[in-house]
Amino acid sequence: MNTAYDVIIIGAGPAGLAAAIEAEKGGLTYCVIDKGGIVNSLQHFPGTMTFFSTPELLEIGGVPFTSASMRPTRADGLEYYRRVADHFHLVLRLYDEVTEIRRGPVHFEVLTPMGISTCRSIILATGYYDHPNMLSIPGEHLPKVSHYYHEPYSFYRQRVAVIGGKNSAAIAALELFRHGAHVTVIHRHPVFDSGIKYWILPDLLNRIHEGSIAACVNSSVTEIRADAVVVCGPDNEARVLGNDFVFALTGYHPDTRLIGMCGMAVDAETQAPVVDAATYETSVPGVYVAGSIAAGKDNNKIFIENGRLHGKTVIDAILSKR
Ligand SMILES: Cc1cc2nc3c(=O)[nH]c(=O)nc-3n(C[C@H](O)[C@H](O)[C@H](O)COP(=O)(O)OP(=O)(O)OC[C@H]3O[C@@H](n4cnc5c(N)ncnc54)[C@H](O)[C@@H]3O)c2cc1C
Repeated sequence: MNTAYDVIIIGAGPAGLAAAIEAEKGGLTYCVIDKGGIVNSLQHFPGTMTFFSTPELLEIGGVPFTSASMRPTRADGLEYYRRVADHFHLVLRLYDEVTEIRRGPVHFEVLTPMGISTCRSIILATGYYDHPNMLSIPGEHLPKVSHYYHEPYSFYRQRVAVIGGKNSAAIAALELFRHGAHVTVIHRHPVFDSGIKYWILPDLLNRIHEGSIAACVNSSVTEIRADAVVVCGPDNEARVLGNDFVFALTGYHPDTRLIGMCGMAVDAETQAPVVDAATYETSVPGVYVAGSIAAGKDNNKIFIENGRLHGKTVIDAILSKR
């Protein structure tokens, strides 16, 4: 634990792993620390999910990613990133959460339950998936409410409210409907997001049109009760809908705690760390970001396809400083 690494990479998601590969190739001493298993976020994605991206756009380290279908599944992705980590013999410390970062005169100290590690540079690649955007309404903490959707099977003949209007909400609503749940989608805007993938949106709109899925648009959930949700529509009238389960799929945001601890400047609106676009170095010399954390709350701007490219830029910058 007392080794002084050249670089500590926090987060073993696609962006953190891509950075680790570049560190390995560049001969740097490094360690990737993740609070969960490898590609922890992907492990928590819906079991039935398929990526929107074709496999080559998810590749890291130049290792080909093949899948039987045009869009790889979650399982394909989990296998791929695990094999890549093995291929490059990446140094990973899993199930160890970074709880604090301290700035010393020469080194940074990275604190985890396993101890204190020191390093010259840090790459924050902690993503966003652990922190759902809360509705902050009464009843949100009831056990029937989840901010993550995993599988449809346990919701057969149940009244399920899906709150949200983007891809995750659309996919969950369709899947739940197709597995026998009575689904109501509640969306605060008048129309469903044009960002919903082109092969998903017509399916959702057609199911709503034919009445298979109920939709409340221009509407917000103002309260969740044990047996109901209270929905406020455009007329400002509160309607009480009978309900058994709620999926609040209203997006996620990065953990600002570590960002704050490092003392780096952030954009006031997006909370994205302010970086040198050529290096991804933050306002704290020696601290870099990689992957979706670089977009702050705008996490639909950086995903695997583009976030996987940050690692090379960052490691090149670290190497050029040596
Ligand atoms: C359902 C779904 C489908 C998607 N499909 C696509 C797609 O088809 N194509 C695409 O390009 N993108 C897709 N995305 C987006 C993509 O998954 C994310 O952009 C991507 O995971 C971001 O990668 P990352 O490495 O930056 O962060 P993450 O993959 O989120 O990795 C961050 C890691 O940091 C770890 N971590 C966090 N805090 C700490 C801490 N304090 N200490 C230690 N470890 C910590 C986490 O455990 C996690 O493993 C999808 C997202 C979702 C939710």
